[in-house]
Amino acid sequence: MALYITDECTYCGACEPECPTGAITAGDDIYVISAAACNECVGHSDEPSCVVVCPAECIVQG
Ligand code: SF4
Ligand code: SF4
Repeated sequence: MALYITDECTYCGACEPECPTGAITAGDDIYVISAAACNECVGHSDEPSCVVVCPAECIVQG
């Protein structure tokens, strides 16, 4: 399972540097998570790092 970013994304960019696997990139209108690269932060932290920092609470389970 991977997480994904909804249309509520405000394009703030806060999540991108927090991802330990480099799964988050800037898309055309919202940031996007590569399902192949996201490991839900297993082995890095107890919670998904991107979810913790997202001010719009728009990163959800796929
Ligand atoms: S859950 Fe972790 S690995 Fe997946 S996109 Fe968010 S920060 Fe990256
Ligand atoms: S932290 Fe949330 S609002 Fe900001 S770019 Fe990432 S997904 Fe979008």
